[in-house]
Amino acid sequence: MRKPGNKILRIRGWALAMIFIGMAVMYLGVFFREIPWVMLIFLILGIIPILLSFVIYFWVGMISARTVTVQCPNCERHTKILGRVDYCQHCKEPLTLDQELEGEEFTVDYNVKHRREKKIAELREQRNSKD
Ligand SMILES: [Zn+2]
Repeated sequence: MRKPGNKILRIRGWALAMIFIGMAVMYLGVFFREIPWVMLIFLILGIIPILLSFVIYFWVGMISARTVTVQCPNCERHTKILGRVDYCQHCKEPLTLDQELEGEEFTVDYNVKHRREKKIAELREQRNSKD
């Protein structure tokens, strides 16, 4: 199974894929150039994912400003983290900004605030009961 990658790279990948999908759909329209309205539908259907990918690129640019750059403990290169947990851009090492979650089983669930807080509460309880 392929490991999930860094979020920003993944979102960019999707945006790029959408440009190709849009172009492929528009290209299909060429086969219907005898029937103008069919060709028009293909062109419109093709433009939608392309416009959407521009919106995504723009959005990625905005959220990139909110990312935290950290040094990856695994490969020692600098990587951008989006949210509380993310993967290293270079080696795909899971990284977290919460020290309490360090060493725990990794899940992107921790990006959801209430799930993360529930997990931290559980960990605290476990630690307290050990003492
Ligand atoms: Zn790394």
